[in-house]
Amino acid sequence: MEKEIYLIAPPAHQYELGALIREVWPLCKIYDQPAAGLRGIVVSPEKGSVSLLAADGTTERVMAMEEPEEGAAPLSQKNSEKKAVLDLLQASLPWGILTGVRPSKVAYTYLEAGLSEEETEAAMRRQYRLRSDKARLCTRVAAEERALLADHTGRDISLYVGIPFCPSRCSYCSFISHDQRAYQKWGDAYLEALIREMEQSQGLLEGHRLQSFYMGGGTPTTLSASELQRVLLAADRMCHFETLKEVTVEAGRPDTITREKLKMLKDMGVTRISINPQSMNQSTLDTIGRRHSVEEIETAFAMARQAGFTNINMDFIVGLPGETLSDVRHSMDRVMAMKPDNLTVHTLAIKRSSRMNEEGSGKMVLEKALREAKTLDAMLALTMETAQTLGMHPYYMYRQKNMAGNFENIGYSLPGHEGLYNIEIMEERQNILAFGAGGVSKVYDPERNRLERVPNVKSVDEYIRRIDEMIERKRKGAQAVWKSKS
Ligand code: SF4
Repeated sequence: MEKEIYLIAPPAHQYELGALIREVWPLCKIYDQPAAGLRGIVVSPEKGSVSLLAADGTTERVMAMEEPEEGAAPLSQKNSEKKAVLDLLQASLPWGILTGVRPSKVAYTYLEAGLSEEETEAAMRRQYRLRSDKARLCTRVAAEERALLADHTGRDISLYVGIPFCPSRCSYCSFISHDQRAYQKWGDAYLEALIREMEQSQGLLEGHRLQSFYMGGGTPTTLSASELQRVLLAADRMCHFETLKEVTVEAGRPDTITREKLKMLKDMGVTRISINPQSMNQSTLDTIGRRHSVEEIETAFAMARQAGFTNINMDFIVGLPGETLSDVRHSMDRVMAMKPDNLTVHTLAIKRSSRMNEEGSGKMVLEKALREAKTLDAMLALTMETAQTLGMHPYYMYRQKNMAGNFENIGYSLPGHEGLYNIEIMEERQNILAFGAGGVSKVYDPERNRLERVPNVKSVDEYIRRIDEMIERKRKGAQAVWKSKS
């Protein structure tokens, strides 16, 4: 595995080619100029080839590029370069030359262009070199997404509300989330600002159909029942929950779930909740900084069923530090016993802002995961088998940077229980108005099939201080796109 290399490529393609090389040689440092003592990759579109150069500058290997193609499944110049680089490195990857975070979006485009599922799957294999199971997976997911979004128009809106507090911080977490102390310091002022942001943005909803509401974070159930209800009442005034297709609240940490909160959520019209164990092994939960027991997960799940929730998601992560295949099997056995309605399986990703990365263990965990890519593959296959045994099918997926073994995250669901908001976020063909610190509103322009992002500031403190500016920013950002279309 190369640790350092230089890459000479067309500037517009440098970034993606570098990302592809790092999928083959993870953690490899890539320079954009020849450097003494290093091997190099030179992409020459004018010669139609890519070359691997030895440290002394002599040519080790040359690979010719395929000709760009036109038609429903075109091969761009950049993809032609990426395929040649993969050949040059004599590598094959589960996701082939796709380095983006939304492989199903590519398959979606082919289905929209009129290709059948079989043709799309074949194009994903041929054009992007996807492994057969991955080509099938992203084509299936894209077909599901198309069916579920069939009646969506580019003018529809979904709402997101972020509660950036958690009882403690997980070691792999890269979300904007603060622990209990911050919640005690800022909680009240934050809720006030949040409700103000929602109320002042009411006008933006006029003339738009609303689809779904999602409250995430953080862990919204860190709030007390009455605080949570205050926010939900404001949201309900804004978008009338009973008219929406889906109202989700993440109740991610079992140690924040009480009967009182569950009853209130149900009474408020919440249709879907998430209880996220990540693992059903106590030693793993302790290692990643979750201060709750496995039993608390099962109790919270049972209480949610008793409260009447018929759509419960559970999140799991494969590749957590120290977990073996038999640990994952143990977690999946417990899932089989609980029978959730959705199962979301993430592959561990170590982001820069995570505690694991800051403490330096993240790199070690990733390196180990890369050495054991086959085990990760087997873990993912096991979770897929569990989902299938429970009668679920994959309905959304995405990839992340710095993901162990370059795999993916998959959302499975029982038919009719799919989380609509998850698909809307992935396919990026709809407006999302986001409220709260770190919320990123997405304003969609159907004519150009483009999203304009309107971010709120990430810091809770700043969000509270600059709330009027956030409100104005969202109004201006939305109107700039919508006005030009009306
Ligand atoms: S529960 Fe989720 S948001 Fe909260 S610290 Fe853990 S990973 Fe981050």
